[in-house]
Amino acid sequence: MSIDSSTLYMPCPCGSGSKFKFCCWPKYRDRFDDETTRAQIVQTVRCSEAGIYAREFAPGVRELCEQGREALYPPCDPDKGRELFHRARELDPRETTAWNNEALCYWLHGDVEKVCELQLQGIEHSPYRNTFGFASMAIYLHALGRDDESSEWIARSLEDRRPIGRDVVVQVCKALALFRRHREIVDYATASFMDDDARVAYFKGIALANLGEAGRALPILNAVNDEAYEEIAQYYVECIQTTSLPISVYGDEWPYFCYADFPPAHWFENALAAGRDPFERYPNVTADAIEVLITEEIRKPQEMLSLIEGREGERMEKLRQGLKELVESGVGEEDADELPPGVTAVKDNSNGFGANDMYKWQMKLEIKRENTPENDAETVLDGFVRPYFEKYCSLGDHEDGERFDIALMEYILDSDRRLTESPIVMPGRYDQFWDMFRKALVDLFDNCFESEYLCEVSLDTGCGGPILALNGEKTVDLFMVSIPDRY
Ligand SMILES: [Zn+2]
Repeated sequence: MSIDSSTLYMPCPCGSGSKFKFCCWPKYRDRFDDETTRAQIVQTVRCSEAGIYAREFAPGVRELCEQGREALYPPCDPDKGRELFHRARELDPRETTAWNNEALCYWLHGDVEKVCELQLQGIEHSPYRNTFGFASMAIYLHALGRDDESSEWIARSLEDRRPIGRDVVVQVCKALALFRRHREIVDYATASFMDDDARVAYFKGIALANLGEAGRALPILNAVNDEAYEEIAQYYVECIQTTSLPISVYGDEWPYFCYADFPPAHWFENALAAGRDPFERYPNVTADAIEVLITEEIRKPQEMLSLIEGREGERMEKLRQGLKELVESGVGEEDADELPPGVTAVKDNSNGFGANDMYKWQMKLEIKRENTPENDAETVLDGFVRPYFEKYCSLGDHEDGERFDIALMEYILDSDRRLTESPIVMPGRYDQFWDMFRKALVDLFDNCFESEYLCEVSLDTGCGGPILALNGEKTVDLFMVSIPDRY
């Protein structure tokens, strides 16, 4: 492979002190191609030289860990992952990865006391250095409000000058980010020689922006092509290019965390949505959770401002100040006035991660005896779906005017969201679309046993058109629109 000179002449990742070219490069050069990043080269050399690939565990352990990792890819199933990792470390307690990941699965659920206990056991059982575990301990203890201990674990993780992989570097950066230790993030990421990895670059770029070095941050953030972080990175790139600040509740701070990758924001949001006190369990991470919900426009500044009334602490005070400024500047309030009666707009993150501009609408529909199916269809179509179409959807902008083919598809699911019968496909032309839709809804309401639906309409980026979901107690009806010549 061709390799650039900065990589060739970097200190050898094995730690010998020689240049890479004159040390390990000849041994490894055949393993890489032109697509290989420097981070991957460094990771391969460090893991091989540290004997990590050669570690022998009890039979079946590696396979269980592999399956566990697969369970954590989208659609993520932490319960399944947790069970697999649990079995792996029971078979062989020296398997550090299994402990780390089992703890991570609990972390996704928000059972932080359990998380800490497991992570600590994993560190104690492992005969190997577990820098990822050290950084994880720092993150978990911070959530429990034990910041002094958290800082000690960060210090331990920073002692590792040759982290073995990008996941380790990212975990250390996350721990540092909780404490806004921007300069150390830049230094650690740079010294790791893995800062060309998208996730490492994401943290380094934001740290630089926080240090006021937007010029240096720009190309770094612009190169972030990681699924979870790309959208936020691009948002920051736009901010830098237009010399504006991102939406942040802490004045001039550039937030590190995003909803897709910051479980405390999920716990907070879930508690809030379920009517529980979101400050009850882990108050130390609530300020950061609120920041994520505001930055990604999942919650509105005014709502959060009322919620934190009477809360004390330095970070809460800063939060209050920031939220007040956002309320005064009108952030997040732009479309409340334009909604049809009974409809609420919420941020829709279901189509991807991070900050996007998509909204979905929600409305409750009571099926009353005095209303005909035609009345209900009208309420849903004219009072809900059509206004959404007009506001967000470009389906009608077709080169053939209104005479192009479309298909309306109806999926009937049970309460576990399993398909109960084959989807109904209704082909037609766009100029007949609303009549078709009305007829399908009249049929549905004519035959339904539900007393109430939660109606949701959102843009379906996969199929092309909006998707209407009627969530009843026993059934869920989904309607999708597709344009056959486009999708
Ligand atoms: Zn070497």
